[in-house]
Amino acid sequence: MESLSDALRGALKKIAHLGRIDEASIKEVVKDIQRALLRGDVNVKLVLAVTKNIEKRALSEKVPPGMNPREHVINILYDELVKVMGEGRSLSLKRQRIMLVGIYGQGKTTTSAKIAKYFQKKGLRVGLIQADTHRPGAYDQSKQLSELIGAPFWGDPEEKDSVKLVKRLLPRTEKEEVVIIDTSGRHRLGADLIEEMEAIVKIAKPDEKLLVVDSTMGQTAGEQAKAFHEAIGLTGVVLTKMDGSAKGGGALSSVAETGAQIVFVGSGEKVYDIEIFDSARFVSRLLGMGDLQTLLEKAREATDTGKAEETAKKIMSGKFTLRDMYDQMETVMKMGSLKKIMDLLPTKAVPTEMDTQKSQELLKKFKVIMDSMTENELDDPKIVKMQRIKRIAKGSGVREEDVKLLLRQYNASKKAIRGVMSNRRARKALMKQLSFEE
Ligand code: GDP
Ligand code: MG
Repeated sequence: MESLSDALRGALKKIAHLGRIDEASIKEVVKDIQRALLRGDVNVKLVLAVTKNIEKRALSEKVPPGMNPREHVINILYDELVKVMGEGRSLSLKRQRIMLVGIYGQGKTTTSAKIAKYFQKKGLRVGLIQADTHRPGAYDQSKQLSELIGAPFWGDPEEKDSVKLVKRLLPRTEKEEVVIIDTSGRHRLGADLIEEMEAIVKIAKPDEKLLVVDSTMGQTAGEQAKAFHEAIGLTGVVLTKMDGSAKGGGALSSVAETGAQIVFVGSGEKVYDIEIFDSARFVSRLLGMGDLQTLLEKAREATDTGKAEETAKKIMSGKFTLRDMYDQMETVMKMGSLKKIMDLLPTKAVPTEMDTQKSQELLKKFKVIMDSMTENELDDPKIVKMQRIKRIAKGSGVREEDVKLLLRQYNASKKAIRGVMSNRRARKALMKQLSFEE
C-alpha cells in the first residue's frame, strides 16, 4: 500500500501547513487529494466522484464544534474514502461450505488454509478439500498446509476430473462444521474454467463462493471480480498480497466499485496473515499520521458517549447482552470505579473496587473469549451451556473456567444493574455517569 498511502499523507501534510481554509485553499487541497488518489492507482471515475464529494462537503458543511477547519477537511476525506472502499462483510460462524475460485497464482490454496485457521480460532471444526486436479503440486501443497494447521484434508492426486472428485469426497466431510473447497485455476478466466466452477457449485451447493484475487494486479482485480460474478455469482472477495502492494488501493477500490463485498485481506505468506476487511480501520492505517490519530480519537470520544447512552437505554429496557456488559466494563474502567453508585445501594451485589491492572487483563481475556462466540451467544448468554463452553474455550485457547468466569461476571452485572435500576437515587447517578453528564 506504499504509494497510495504516501501520496495521501503528502496531501495531508499540505493541509496541515495551510494558513487558512477558504474556498481557494479547499479547491487546492482537493486537487492534491485527487492527484494522490490517481498516483495510488485508484480508478479515475471513483477519484472524480470522491473528490467532488469532498469539495462539496468541505465548502458547505459547518465545522463541528471541537474541530478546527483543517480537522474538518481531513475528517471528510476520511469519511469519503471509507465510503469508497466499501463496507465489507464478515462470514457467519455457522456450519457451511466455502468454495474458493480464481485464476492461477492468486493465493487460493494459501487462503484456504488461512480461512481454515480463522474458523478454528472461533472453535469450529474445519476440513479442507483440494479439488485442483490441474496442478500437479496442489495435492501436496494442501496436505502440507492442513498438517501445519491440524485440519483434516481430502484430495486425490490421481483423479483428473475435479467435479467427480468433489462428488466423491464431500460425504467424507460430514463431521466437519466448515468445509473449504479449493479449486483449480487457469491462466485466465475462460469457458472451460467457468464450466468446471458451475459444475462444482451444482454438486457442492456452497454457502459462500469467494473469489481470491491478487491485489498487486491493481484495477484489473475489479475486472476479475466482475467477470467471475457474472459467471457464477460471488458472495465475496478475498484480496491477497496486500502486504507491501503498491497497487492495493487500486485493487480495493475497483473491487468495491463492482459492488462485490470484500471479506478478507491477505497480508503475508503465513497462515495467520489474514484479516477481516474493515474499511474504517484500513483507511485510518492508510492515512495514519499523528494528526489523524487525534482527530479519530475526538470522533471516537463522541461515539463513546453515544455508545454509553445506548447501553444505558438498553439497560433501562431490560435487554442486556454480553456485548453490553463488555462496553459497560470498559466504560467503568474509564471512569475509575462504580463505587460511588454502589455505595448508594443498601446491599452490595458485586465487588466494586477492581484493581485496574487486573481488570484490564480480565477485559482483554474476555475480548478473546467473546471473539470465539457466535452472534446468538453474545446476544443471549443463557444458551451457553457446557458443550458450548468447551467449544469456546478451545477456540479461544483459554480454560473452561475462564469462559465460566465471563458468564458469571455477566450474570452478576445483570443482577447488579437490576438492583441499581430499582433504586431511584442510584439509577439517577448511574445514568449520569453513563452519559458523561457533569
Ligand atoms: P493459487 O495458485 O491461487 O492456489 O495460489 P497459491 O496459494 O499457491 O499462492 C501463490 C503464491 O502467492 C505463493 O507463493 C503464496 O505464498 C503467495 N501468497 C498467497 N497469499 C499471499 C499474501 O497474502 N501475501 C504474500 N506476500 N504472498 C501470498
Ligand atoms: Mg492452488
